[in-house]
Amino acid sequence: MVQFRPMVDAESRKPIQILPPEVASKIAAGEVVERPASVVKELVENALDAGATDIRVEIRQGGRRLIQVADNGCGIPAEEVELAFARHATSKLRDVRDLEEIASLGFRGEALASIAAVARVTLLTRPPDEPVARRVRVEGGRLVENRPAAAPAGTLVTVEHLFYNVPARQKFLRQPPTEAAYIHEVVTRYALAYPERRFELVSDGRPLFLSPGSGQLRDVLAAVLGVETAEALLPVEAEGEHGARLWGFVSPPSLHRASRADIAFFVNRRWIQDRSLSAAVGQAYHTFLPIGRYPVAILLLEMPPSEVDVNVHPTKREVRFRHGQAVFALVQAAVRKALTTQAPVAAHLAPDWSPPRWQGTPTPAAPTPGPPSPVAPSTAALWPEATSMPPLRVVGQVALTYIVAEGPDGLYLIDQHAAHERVLYEDLMADRGTAPPTQALLEPLPVRLTPRQAAALEEHLEHLRKHGFGLEPFGGDTWLLRGVPQVLNRGDLARALADILDELAEGAARPLEGSQEARVVASICKQVAVKGGQPLSLEEMRELVRRLERTRSPRTCPHGRPTMIFIQAALLARQFGREG
Ligand code: ADP
Ligand code: MG
Repeated sequence: MVQFRPMVDAESRKPIQILPPEVASKIAAGEVVERPASVVKELVENALDAGATDIRVEIRQGGRRLIQVADNGCGIPAEEVELAFARHATSKLRDVRDLEEIASLGFRGEALASIAAVARVTLLTRPPDEPVARRVRVEGGRLVENRPAAAPAGTLVTVEHLFYNVPARQKFLRQPPTEAAYIHEVVTRYALAYPERRFELVSDGRPLFLSPGSGQLRDVLAAVLGVETAEALLPVEAEGEHGARLWGFVSPPSLHRASRADIAFFVNRRWIQDRSLSAAVGQAYHTFLPIGRYPVAILLLEMPPSEVDVNVHPTKREVRFRHGQAVFALVQAAVRKALTTQAPVAAHLAPDWSPPRWQGTPTPAAPTPGPPSPVAPSTAALWPEATSMPPLRVVGQVALTYIVAEGPDGLYLIDQHAAHERVLYEDLMADRGTAPPTQALLEPLPVRLTPRQAAALEEHLEHLRKHGFGLEPFGGDTWLLRGVPQVLNRGDLARALADILDELAEGAARPLEGSQEARVVASICKQVAVKGGQPLSLEEMRELVRRLERTRSPRTCPHGRPTMIFIQAALLARQFGREG
């Protein structure tokens, strides 16, 4: 049991006080501004709310040095420019009743105040019918300038030196390419939600993204996912109860990803995160995708504002539906229909069991992809004392995924994929420092990466190279693959690299565990290891178990999941009433 200790004892307790405004405003700012991408999100939302049709985002050093958002929207009248920086100051809500039916993206009146509390902000703005623009500068929440200026109609917000006065936040920021990738994600998401508006993103002087503003979602999808992917997507369209309408695009079963990065939902054009909608998509793809693979899905829900509460979370990324079940059913049924009526049928029904093929085998009994389930704690109590494992006798394989084995004290079920990951991981980590175990490709292979993948590659380049990847920049987001780790030398190498990068990018969103190198190695092992659903011969299973016995931590895979479940002989005896 965890013991909760009081933070202070009675003698050292201080009296309750209202926090000084500088402290309170930094705390409040933290809720809205977590990283540079949150600033971009708020400024882009403001530009959209202002009716802008042309939105240009420029960043430097992943947004830490500079974030600039220019729009051609309605501007702010001179007499209101200072008020825009006050907390809870908004032009979008008047009274409580408006809260029930929010039509704008912003409404809390907190963004500019929050950003200005933790950065140096310059606002240059002119409504179209005013002759002169206004230039306002705010630093650390203090107004330092407000004067007339010349500028085109619209608004230009410049945010410099984000978190310069909040060192604790700075420490949590990641490398500039990673922060730039988060920003790229935000801009592309809004571009998808607003195909009729033109978006542009420039990073360190390089154009990263441009959507034409043609009004066609497919045009934006081509800009975000590449032309080939965009063309393969299947349209989704459906009407639901309570005035809900769903439309968008999903991938056919032949197109899938290693992570959920390309699943996005929009409710009334607001980009949101919602586990139940992800689960609805997951259910629609049930049996269509191999285990551990995810679809591409860009889905836009439209419904009366009174059907959805957006005032749930400070960043407005979560919403609450009045009729959640109906929305779930609408998404699930519409996606399923798109798949069953438009997708080529055979793709998911013909599993390829041929033994040399270790990768990406579709499994007919794929479980519904959902949030990863935590390790079942109940088995932990049954572990024998030691952290090593005894020699085991392999009995057989169940569900083409688990090795059944007998030990001196009971029954072991070993997850063949997790076990193989552990074995490979310790081999590769032990070989560190020796000559790189690389296999040169006869023909260098150009690989086009998504900005997220490219960012992960740049962040982890040193260790990827150290472990056998020959990688050269080839212009833009394309890299040249010249060699691969010896262990990986089979199958679709471009896809294996993309999957590894997806996994590294995914990890970036979570707190770091282990060294960077360990993560790179673990993600290589995940690619190489035998998958679930793969039949193994008795000899292959014996070999795997023998190698597992020799590892230092045979009980867990490099990602921390269990490799085996142990069922004590005594428990079996009890269950069968053989006891005493
Ligand atoms: P909110 O968006 O919740 O109203 P903000 O702090 O983001 O709060 O912005 C405060 C106000 O400043 C907005 O309500 C709007 O009137 C004005 N504003 C901010 N950005 C822009 C912009 N790009 N164009 C026009 N008006 C803007
Ligand atoms: Mg706003």
